Amino acid sequence: MKTCRHQNTVEAFFDGEAKDPEWVEAHLADCAVCREYHSLLSAVRNGIAASRQAPSIAEPQFDLFMSGIAEGIERQPRYSFRGLWAYTSLVTAAILVGLALAFTLFPANRPVEATEIQAVYTDYDGATVDWYPSDDGSTTIWIKTAGDDLE
Ligand SMILES: [Zn+2]
Repeated sequence: MKTCRHQNTVEAFFDGEAKDPEWVEAHLADCAVCREYHSLLSAVRNGIAASRQAPSIAEPQFDLFMSGIAEGIERQPRYSFRGLWAYTSLVTAAILVGLALAFTLFPANRPVEATEIQAVYTDYDGATVDWYPSDDGSTTIWIKTAGDDLE
């Protein structure tokens, strides 16, 4: 890029600090170097030059760049799906551990509270539920529907 000894004056003019703005305007009309410099200063102020100087992606890299984005978009649901399964497995494992602890903490010869039935109900239309404690400590639950009996 060519330079002109008046570029500093043009810069001052651009910043509104020129001692002789009319002379600078006249010089800009004559000097292509200072005109270009002045437009560059305008571009910088507008943020255009900044975007032009941003690293550009060469043509051969562009396809890879785009496929990388596409791959990233395609991968996203698979990752979250896997993440969901991992989360579900963790919850399941936590529940299993909790149950194992509950059975470990209660002596085998004492009834575990959780197996005692507090209430039985059904949302199934026309079905009734009843339960019968038996002598061996187990409980039989009867769900009575119109036709079939489900145990
Ligand atoms: Zn000049």
